[in-house]
Amino acid sequence: MKRAGNPCNDYVERIVLVALGEEDHEAERHAEECQGCREWLEEMKRIMEVARLKRFEPPQELVDQVKGWAERRTVRAEPVRSSLGLAGARRGEADAFQVLLDAAGETVRVAYTREDGSWKVLVEAPAIYGSLRIGGKTVAGSDGRFRFTVRSLKQSGFVLKSPFREIEVPPVEESE
Ligand SMILES: [Zn+2]
Repeated sequence: MKRAGNPCNDYVERIVLVALGEEDHEAERHAEECQGCREWLEEMKRIMEVARLKRFEPPQELVDQVKGWAERRTVRAEPVRSSLGLAGARRGEADAFQVLLDAAGETVRVAYTREDGSWKVLVEAPAIYGSLRIGGKTVAGSDGRFRFTVRSLKQSGFVLKSPFREIEVPPVEESE
């Protein structure tokens, strides 16, 4: 399916709800004037139509899911598990470790490797997360994978972004 143009952040969920049949005159008016949002609305309507033709259950589950996204737009990821290297890395003794985090059901894996006095960070997130923000910079991802370098673990916190949701991953020192 063709990707629609970029909708505005403030309207992305509201337009999905419009496509699902919810009344939102302001969002509809906005979509008439804004090309990105209009394409997004058309795309969402096409998806709903395909769902209807394929006789999926009325997409209540999808409605709930989208409402859930809208309500919990920013989710803070909680560490589930970390490799043994973490404690050592905090003491300056280890050079590599991994942390597995849960963000309201979505899994994020982060691997940290010390190299030339900096930390190289590799992030693996669900593919819908297309970009990552760290220290005011945006890093583009590929299939949910991101790489960046930080001077210290204190600066290793970042935010993953998808059209629906953001996941906030705290810096390592704060975790646990
Ligand atoms: Zn717009």
